[in-house]
Order: sequence, then structure tokens, then C-alpha cells
Amino acid sequence: MSLTKKILIALVLGVVVGLGLNFVPADVFEALDTYALTPVGQLFLNLIMMLVVPIVFISIVLGVAGLNDPVQLGRIGVKTIGFYLATTAIALVIGLSLAYIVQPGQEGLLEQAGGEEEFQQEEAPPIMDTLLEIIPDNPIEAMAAGEMLQIIAFAIFIGIALAKLGKKTEGIVKLFEQGNDIFMFLVTLVMKFAPYGAFALIASALGDAGLEALGSMVMYIVTVIGALLIHAVFTYSLAIGLIGKGNPLSFYKGFFPAMTLGFSTSSSAAALPVSMKTAQEALGVRKSVSSFVQPLGATINMDGTAIMQAVATVFIAQVYGVQLGFTDLVMVVLTATLASIGTAGVPGVGMIMLAMVLNQVGLPVEGIALIIGVDRLLDMIRTSVNITGDATCAYVVSKSEDRKENSADIEAAKDSSR
Ligand code: ASP
Repeated sequence: MSLTKKILIALVLGVVVGLGLNFVPADVFEALDTYALTPVGQLFLNLIMMLVVPIVFISIVLGVAGLNDPVQLGRIGVKTIGFYLATTAIALVIGLSLAYIVQPGQEGLLEQAGGEEEFQQEEAPPIMDTLLEIIPDNPIEAMAAGEMLQIIAFAIFIGIALAKLGKKTEGIVKLFEQGNDIFMFLVTLVMKFAPYGAFALIASALGDAGLEALGSMVMYIVTVIGALLIHAVFTYSLAIGLIGKGNPLSFYKGFFPAMTLGFSTSSSAAALPVSMKTAQEALGVRKSVSSFVQPLGATINMDGTAIMQAVATVFIAQVYGVQLGFTDLVMVVLTATLASIGTAGVPGVGMIMLAMVLNQVGLPVEGIALIIGVDRLLDMIRTSVNITGDATCAYVVSKSEDRKENSADIEAAKDSSR
């Protein structure tokens, strides 16, 4: 049986068993979770997280070193950021529109849910700090802390140096190439464990999903999932078909294993090694593009998270009986887009960013207590969308670079035949 099939079965089993575990006595679930599910899940998470920093660093160095000229890096950068900003804005508009159509929130829901858990507000890093700190004063510290943007910046510098020094440093380039082979091999090895790890992670996460909370939250959940589907199916397909001139169905089929990993880990960062490998090998994305675009996306591009925030903001406003004006909605789009830049792709980070958005439009942050109970499931789905957005961008940018190179080749051929 193929690995993808095995992971798919694990995914379905994980969801079924996880939801089923909500009906066993709490102490039985706890014992099962502590001694079986969590250890297996954690082991798998550690195995893939172990590969993230080396893979990101090595592949960006190689990607940049292999670019034809620095202008190409700038061009890829501009296209990538443009694509990320545009798709996040579209995601937010889809989320806001669907929330207004469905009207998932109603006054009195707060009392109905009994106030639920307390929400501890955490601070999201100010955007200016994030931008200023992109250049690490200590690259080793950045790697140790897994600071993705800083690692990307440092790797770009090394890559530029290698490209400029050419022959002088070809030994180091060879070393990086061999390092890349080692880590890609390890991704394949670790993925053999994915069906078990994914099953355990999903069952553990959904085992205490708090099904009691689901009842009053059904409309919210349906709206978020609906908007995620619309974005994943329409926005990305249009981008793949119209801009990338590719077949969206083959794209989804090829990228599916990575999506399952986003789903089971709820972390764009953890899914990164597999999503890069899948994009390069199954979707034919250029290594130089994938290695730069996807790690950047795992940190700054979160369309799925933006959708959740849009729906959650409207939902909370409705629950508290607050009318949001057009300026507020524009504010939501701006804050949510900016907030996603500074926060890493790890589980639950969307909630921290949501607190920022709510603050900005003057909604009570305590409203988060209402949706936090059902957030685990939504985090899994939106993370799959987040990494699909990154891969779509890598695909589209890679294809446009191919076309540019082809037309340059044709021009060169014409010139030489003259
Ligand atoms: N878990 C998401 C990610 O890693 C972020 C979030 O929405 O919480 O992409």
C-alpha cells in the first residue's frame, strides 16, 4: 500500500477514534492519551521538527547560490510577497462575506455556553520589531531558537556569497548539496512513521475536542470550514490554472501528503520539510523557488488563519451585539494581514493574532473564550490551507520563472541565428 493511502487511512481513523474518545470516561481517555497517544504523536513531531532548521537553512543557501543573478532573487521576492498579500486579503474578504451571509453568532450565546474557559491574552510581536530583527545579530542563536525569518535572511547572505565567490567556494556548495541529500533522505525515512504519528496526534487532539461545546458553535464551525473550502478550491485553483497554467486537480493530488501533515500537526513549520519535498518532487516546483517561498510562507502567509479570524471577529461582534462598520472591516483586513507576518506557524498561534484583531476594532478579547474550545479542530484544517497557499505561490512563481527563462532562451536562439 502506498504511503499516501496509509496516511489517509490513519487520518480517517484518527478523526473517528478521536471523536469516539469523547464518549469514554475522562480518566480512561487521560490514561490512553498520556501513555499511548501523546508519546507516539510527540515522537513523530520531534522527528520532523528535528529536520526543519537544517533543511530550511541548507536549501535556501543552495537555492540562492544557484540563482542566475541577484535580480532574479529580487524578482522572486517581489512576486512572492505580492502573491501572499493578495491571497491573504482575498481569504479575509471570503471569510468576512460568508460570516455576514451565514450570521453564525447570536446574542445570548455567551450565557448559553456558560462563559467557558478563561482566555489568557498573549502579546503578538509588534510588526516593526519583527521587521527590524530580520537580520539576526547572532545566527547561531536564531537557529537554536528556530527563528524562521532570521534563518532565511542569514541563509540568503551565505547563498549570495557562494554565488559571487563561484569556483573559490565550490567545495562548500558541494558540502551543502550533500547535506541536502542527507536531509531529504531523512524526510523520506521519518515519513514512514507518519501514519502512526498522524493517527496519534489527531486522536489526541480531538479526544478532548469538547463535543459539548460543539452544539452552540455549529454555525461558527460550518462557516469557517465553508470559507476555508471556498478559498482552497476556488482561489488556489484559479491561481494554479490562470497564472500557473497548470492543472489544479493534479496539484491537489500531488500535494495531498503534505496537506495531511499540516492537518495532523497543526503547524506550518512542522509540515515544512514534507511540503517542500512534495512541491519539488511531485509538483515540479524549482528548488530555488520552493526553498525560498515555502519557508517564508510558513512564517508570514496564513490564509486559513486569516479566514478563521475574519469569521471569528464577525461572530464575536454578533454575540456581543456590536455593529461593525466598513472602516472596522478594513481594519480587520489590515490587522489580520500584518499580524500574520510576525507570528510563526505553530499550533494555536491564530488565537494570539485574533486577540490583536479584536483589540484593534474594540471588541472584547474575552470573546475568544467562546471559540477556543472548538479551535483545535479548526486549527488542523486551516493549517492545511495555510501550507497549500504557500505551495500554490511556489508553484505559480516557479512556472512564471520557467516561462521567463524559456522566452529568454528563444530570444537568445533568435539572436544567434541572425
Ligand atoms: N497552526 C497554524 C499554522 O501553523 C497557525 C494558526 O492558525 O494557529 O499555520
